[in-house]
Parts: sequence; structure tokens; C-alpha cells
Amino acid sequence: MSVLADFAAKTGVKYFMISYTDLFGGQRAKLVPAQAIADMEEDGAGFAGFATWLDLTPAHPDMLAVPDASAVIQLPWKPDVAWVPADCIMEGVPVEQAPRNVLKKLVAEAAEAGLRVKTGIEAEFFLLTPEGDQISDPFDTAAKPCYDQQAVMRRYDVIAEICDYMLEMGWGPYQNDHEDANGQFEMNWDFDDALVTADRHSFFKFMVKSVAEKHGLRATFMPKPIEGLTGNGCHAHISVWDLEGKTNAFASKDGKGQVGEVGLSEQGGYFLGGIMKHAESLAAITNPTVNSYKRISAPRTISGATWAPNSVTWTGNNRTHMVRVPGPGRFELRLPDGAVNPYLLQAVIIAAGLSGINSKADPGQRYDIDMYAEGHLVKDAPRLPLNLLDAIRAYEEDEGLQAMMGTSFSASYSKMKMQEWNSFVSHFSRWERENTLDI
Ligand code: ADP
Ligand code: MG
Ligand code: MG
Ligand code: MG
Ligand code: MG
Repeated sequence: MSVLADFAAKTGVKYFMISYTDLFGGQRAKLVPAQAIADMEEDGAGFAGFATWLDLTPAHPDMLAVPDASAVIQLPWKPDVAWVPADCIMEGVPVEQAPRNVLKKLVAEAAEAGLRVKTGIEAEFFLLTPEGDQISDPFDTAAKPCYDQQAVMRRYDVIAEICDYMLEMGWGPYQNDHEDANGQFEMNWDFDDALVTADRHSFFKFMVKSVAEKHGLRATFMPKPIEGLTGNGCHAHISVWDLEGKTNAFASKDGKGQVGEVGLSEQGGYFLGGIMKHAESLAAITNPTVNSYKRISAPRTISGATWAPNSVTWTGNNRTHMVRVPGPGRFELRLPDGAVNPYLLQAVIIAAGLSGINSKADPGQRYDIDMYAEGHLVKDAPRLPLNLLDAIRAYEEDEGLQAMMGTSFSASYSKMKMQEWNSFVSHFSRWERENTLDI
């Protein structure tokens, strides 16, 4: 018996969206009628890989997206349809560069080392007008709009609808707020296994965009959609557990040493060390677009702070650094932004963290200062890449991280991203005319 056909019989679902995510984070799907799902569950739905961002050619054989029936979700806003994330295979072999495959391989590697990575993410977004160039709420103009009670209630219909759906799906949502930029919101739900979080992150983006459209608005996760305002981060909170998920291997028992004092175990310190060591290169994945670099290393925003990092530093409960340890047994990576690919985000965290554990990487000195005010005093911390090109080059030089992420994935990823960068620089901008016409 097909699990999905059974699911359709029980729920009344008429169509399944067999969905995969390409290298640029785009979600691609086929709508398959429930009557045809049993065969597709086994064989997968066929796609021409070249037609999406996967570094395949038009001559490649069909790519088959095989649905992961255990992760199926009935769309709460359109119960006739169910979304199911899929794994890409070609001629019986997993497509190595397909993001969900990259993550599954790293989850398996962590399991071999007896580790289970659990993460939570904070996927901030803006609600804009349908054209995407203005904040949808004309009254949302405060200089410090964070937690604005009046403004969040003006968008109650959208936010509560999404939160109700998360409650229905059992994600454990626990708070929603207006964030630090005009028009910006954040909704938080419980952490879980890295693959579960990646699937939920993908679905969350799909859901937020769909519900916003239903209300005549446009949601964006773009890192810096409005100049001068705080951008869309996608902080990741990370802890590592034993295989049963019972004991947090990151929680410090003795409270001794630099990482112990903030509540991290020795192993947690090594994992963090891996993130610190590979930060400049993993930015090519956590901050994957041209626009990403307008959020990090940015000038002060109208609200007073960007809330995004500039340098590779870590600290205790202090939001001005790249890594914050908010409490015992976990740390927060504040680098990723809203453009991050949900699967590659989790994958690169595990890749860098495992390499840190394998090499017993030292996370370096902890800085308990306000980086925005006193960052210039820190002389020995590397700066984060200033643009996408620097990040891609750093990734291309980091053979250790490339190997952890998979050499074939890494070659495809940097090739596609370099093409994107070249497309950007070949674009003739207004700035050039305004500033260099008369030179
Ligand atoms: P903040 O805004 O203070 O950074 P949020 O409450 O917005 O924090 O988000 C915290 C995220 O961290 C949530 O997704 C939460 O489930 C997750 N989280 C909490 N504890 C852990 C943990 N031990 N391991 C992984 N993620 C965690
Ligand atoms: Mg056709
Ligand atoms: Mg938050
Ligand atoms: Mg936030
Ligand atoms: Mg945070």
C-alpha cells in the first residue's frame, strides 16, 4: 500500500505537490493527482534538471524527484493539496548536488559519529505591497518599530492565520512579533532535527508567501529589501544530541573554561570552532546573493543597529557578534539571511561543525564587547566577506569545507554562483551613470 495514496484516502487530498529545492533555493514542483500518486511514490516524478538551477545540461537523462512520504503536509490554506519534499535521483543514483541530498548525507555522517544535530531558525520577512517596492502598511513608520504593538495588530489577520496553521501542523509555534524594520515580522516555532527544520523552513517560506498573497500582499525574505532598514536575518540555533535525542552533548557539565562558562561542553566548543574557522567561506552558502552583503557589514540602520555581524567573533548573550551563546547547551549563528537555501544552511552548519569536532578546532577568544561600538578594537578577528565574489572565492579556497559538503556539489555550487555574480556585474547600473558619466 502506498503511504501517500493512503494519506489521500484519509484526508481527501486531491493533488500532491512533489517538490524539490534547487541550488538557488527555488522550490520546483509537479502537481500529481491522488489517483497517480502510488506509482510516483515509488518511481518519482520526472523533471528536466537543466530547466532548474542544478548545474545539469539539456542532454542529461530525466531527473526523478522521489517524494519523502514521511514529510508530507496537507496545505492548511488549501486542503485539496498536499506538499511533499522529494529527493532527486538520476538513473538510480542520488543527484549529488541536489540540496536535500547534500543535507541527508551530512545528517548520516553526523549519525556515524553518534551525533544528532537539532536546530531552530528565525526566518524574518517583510510584508510589502504586491509590487514589492513598498511596505504594505503606510502607518508603519516608527524609527524604532521593533515589537510595535499597534503595527503587529494591523497585520493580525495574516500573522494569526500563519500561526494557526503552525499550531494545526504541530510545529509548536510560541511567539510572533513585529521586528526591527518597518514592515518586518518574525514567527518562532520549536527546534527539531536538522532535516525536519529544513523541510519546515522551506514550507514556511511557501506558506508565508501564499498567505500574504491571499491577503493581497507580498512577503519577501530578501536579505535587505529596503535600504537603510534592518534586513531579513535567518539566525540558526544549534545543539547536538546523542542518537536518541535525550542528552544534549553541547551542554557543559562543569561550567569551567572559556566555553564552559557560557554553558557549552568541550564538544560544543569544537563544533563552534569549526563554524568560526570556516565562517568566511561558509558565508557563500549562508549569505548566497548579491543583496546579502548589504545586510552584513552594513552601516547603522535607522533603528540604530543592523543586528547583523561584521566580523568572525563569538560571545555570550550579546547580539552584536556573529555567534551568540544565549544559554547553556546551544549557540546561535546570526550570519545567515533570508536568501539562504534551507537545506544548504543545515548542511553547511553540520559540515563545518563536524570538521571542527574532527580537528578539535579552537573557537578562539570570546569577546564580551559591543561590536557595533567597539569592534574597531578587535584586531585579530577576520572580517566577513564584503561581497558575494569574495565569499565565493573564500569557498573555492576552503578545500576542507568543500570536501565536507561534497566535491561535486561544491564545484556545481561555485560555478552557478560565479555565473550569477558575472550576470550582476555585467548589469549596467544607474550608479555608474550618475557617478562616472563626466569623468
Ligand atoms: P532569539 O530571537 O532570542 O534569537 P527566538 O526565540 O526568536 O530567539 O528563536 C530561538 C530558536 O532557537 C527557536 O527556533 C527555538 O526553538 C530554538 N532553540 C531553542 N533551544 C534550542 C536548542 N537547544 N537547540 C536548537 N535550537 C534551539
Ligand atoms: Mg513534457
Ligand atoms: Mg528571534
Ligand atoms: Mg529577529
Ligand atoms: Mg536570533
